[in-house]
Amino acid sequence: MTTIEAIVPDVAERAIAIRREIHRFPELGFEEERTASIVERELDDLGIEHRRIAKTGVVGIVRGALPGKVAGLRADMDALPLDERSGESFSSEVPGKMHACGHDAHTAMLLGAARVLQADRANLHGTTVLLFQPAEEGPGGALPMIEAGAMDDPKIDAVAMLHVDVRLATGEVGFIAGACNAAADEFHITITGVGGHGASPHTAVDTIPCAAATVLALQNIAARETDPLKTIVVTIGTIEGGYRNNIIADRVHMSGTFRTQDAQIRAEIEGRARRIVENVAAAYGASATLEVIWGYPAVINDAQLASTFRSYLATETTLRVTSPAPTMGAEDFAYFAERAPGLLIRHGIRSEAAGSVHPGHSALFRVDEDALAYGIAALVAFARGVGAGVVSGGLAAP
Ligand SMILES: [Zn+2]
Ligand SMILES: [Zn+2]
Repeated sequence: MTTIEAIVPDVAERAIAIRREIHRFPELGFEEERTASIVERELDDLGIEHRRIAKTGVVGIVRGALPGKVAGLRADMDALPLDERSGESFSSEVPGKMHACGHDAHTAMLLGAARVLQADRANLHGTTVLLFQPAEEGPGGALPMIEAGAMDDPKIDAVAMLHVDVRLATGEVGFIAGACNAAADEFHITITGVGGHGASPHTAVDTIPCAAATVLALQNIAARETDPLKTIVVTIGTIEGGYRNNIIADRVHMSGTFRTQDAQIRAEIEGRARRIVENVAAAYGASATLEVIWGYPAVINDAQLASTFRSYLATETTLRVTSPAPTMGAEDFAYFAERAPGLLIRHGIRSEAAGSVHPGHSALFRVDEDALAYGIAALVAFARGVGAGVVSGGLAAP
């Protein structure tokens, strides 16, 4: 049997070159002009039709010669605002910007998959929609692409993405059914009291002890108010307030993040937090406001899609397929997976030899480029399987 990986070595070599080209010039969300033009250049070279969408997004379409379903494959293209210290020879040439989350590899692998699918169009069932997305790291490019019709023409039956993951070794991919990451929602709390002299607390309303009590009380949401089998994180990331050691602070501002997997728990969290924030403030004679800025929802992998794809990979590839634990990170692929059966596939890049051991968002982050061939194989398998109707979603997640 010829496995899918067997047909990708020269394609992988090309993908590595493209990845390095993108890596040297990282671009932040909605600034991916250069990256989008590399994508367009490659698609033109392959004779794949494409269109611009959502400013710097690109949608390409591979039309198989045989009838079938429509698979969507999504790759994000944006970088992060940090200085690279990976030591790679093709490190970022842009100060303060780095591909530290592997989106350069995602884009290059999707171009590699496009190359394989286009070359074998005569045997391809259905259509593959290539979704090159801007701004995953913020403010979010998935929704603007969807709102501009990226999933509608043609209508996508099932959609997948890869994300590099140092928890998995090169040669492995992994996914689970159901929630595989978390909704990430930001919040801001402002506590207002009355300032005064540090020697005369009775003449003031001190917001510092009120802030301390608020931080502790908010943990009650996770510790006492939520089903312990349903995951939730409440993190206060910043506290600012006060002027000097002997001045009573009249104002404290705090910010933090809520992480949830369950939609019901997410829907209730603002009310719970508001009750605590306002009533703790009242108990201290202060007042407080809470603002929640809703972020990406959790990615819910379609259960049937996960199981049919797992079977397909077992017969068509030699990839080792694992079931990695969910994370509490966030990913705006969630919006695609809300509109079609979706699958977030974690793509192993761990290699001590390649120095590919640092987590994403680290300045030391490296990608083991030997892993790209396996990622391309997984993407090609998804497109073929969905196109042929062998890999399909539709059952609700557990
Ligand atoms: Zn990231
Ligand atoms: Zn990422």
